[in-house]
Amino acid sequence: MHMRKRILVTGGAGFLGSHLCERLLKEGHDVICADNFFTGSKDNIRHLLDNPYFELMRHDITFPLYVEVDEIYNLACPASPIHYQHDPVQTTKTSVHGAINVLGLAKRVGAKVFQASTSEVYGDPEIHPQPEEYRGNVNLIGPRACYDEGKRCAETLFFDYHRQHGVNIRVARIFNTYGPRMHPNDGRVVSNFIMQALRNEPITIYGDGSQTRSFCYCEDLIDGFVRLMAAPDDITGPINLGNPGEFTIRELAEKVIEMIGSTSTLTFEDLPVDDPMQRKPIIDKAQNHLGWNPTIALEDGLKKTITYFEKML
Ligand code: NAD
Ligand code: UDP
Ligand code: UDP
Repeated sequence: MHMRKRILVTGGAGFLGSHLCERLLKEGHDVICADNFFTGSKDNIRHLLDNPYFELMRHDITFPLYVEVDEIYNLACPASPIHYQHDPVQTTKTSVHGAINVLGLAKRVGAKVFQASTSEVYGDPEIHPQPEEYRGNVNLIGPRACYDEGKRCAETLFFDYHRQHGVNIRVARIFNTYGPRMHPNDGRVVSNFIMQALRNEPITIYGDGSQTRSFCYCEDLIDGFVRLMAAPDDITGPINLGNPGEFTIRELAEKVIEMIGSTSTLTFEDLPVDDPMQRKPIIDKAQNHLGWNPTIALEDGLKKTITYFEKML
């Protein structure tokens, strides 16, 4: 028999949150989306507003939240460097106070709670590719620290609520993910490059473009979230979710230009402080414990993302 669950998604009006809300509604659940619209937007979830099982709350997760739910996905937090560095103190508060509030809520109502952690907990990694056991190399006083250390502290809180209060937790370390509904001015590399190429403007490569990232398509990632939530209770994570395909930023730029047939040229700008040189997940745990594998190749995901941005322009 199908069990309709009441599920809270914090950050549900954001890029990933909106895809997650959509997926959970499709599975027949009752979804409460809590978002303060800092980087998210009503446009991302407008198509869900007519659904009687979808409820939108304007709420800042650094403040307590009292709702009765069975599961919580905690995604609230700006994810792009330009946004999370805009008000770094608020970024740390969102991760830390936000985690305390969702954990307090989970403890009170006995809900299972998922944390959207990040590959940024590994900082500028000295080990490549990165397994979950790697403890990371974060500059704790640098401009990225508000995000990285906020997310690290959130993981600490999740594991302490688990050990101390028996809260049922799931921690996913998400690697770079892209797809439709990324904000066009979000500043992240995939959205920047596609927008620039569509406008035939110069593509801004920071540094010499030899730094690498691994890009996962949003649908694949969301499938990993749902599998992790449904896994046996001893599968707490942390568990890497990402696509191990690794590309240099220059390769990404060239691919986007070619796919769009753009006349854009490459322009080189300064590499931001503490920008990680390489990043690629080891996903053995996700494969073995969740039976999860990314299925969408970069070109296929880029095609769908380009179509989305074309429509926006
Ligand atoms: P996003 O910026 O599109 O979404 C974040 C959402 O959280 C937005 O809707 C924003 O308005 C909301 N929000 C921010 N602060 C809030 C607060 N204090 N209270 C309530 N809502 C708040 O980013 P995204 O890419 O969808 O990221 C979602 C989550 O996944 C984030 O926690 C991010 O750290 C994590 N993550 C994303 C990636 C990625 O590549 N997209 C990688 C690693 C981790
Ligand atoms: N909290 C919440 N919703 C709830 C229960 C708790 O937002 O349904 C918040 C509460 O305000 C507190 C935090 O979660 O600040 C941590 O709760 P916990 O019970 O762990 O701590 P305490 O209330 O004892 O400080
Ligand atoms: N980047 C770039 N040009 C841009 C935006 C980003 O060269 O217009 C680079 C950035 O310096 C980093 C990589 O692309 O090396 C990924 O950046 P993003 O902000 O998307 O994600 P993160 O650095 O958080 O992995």
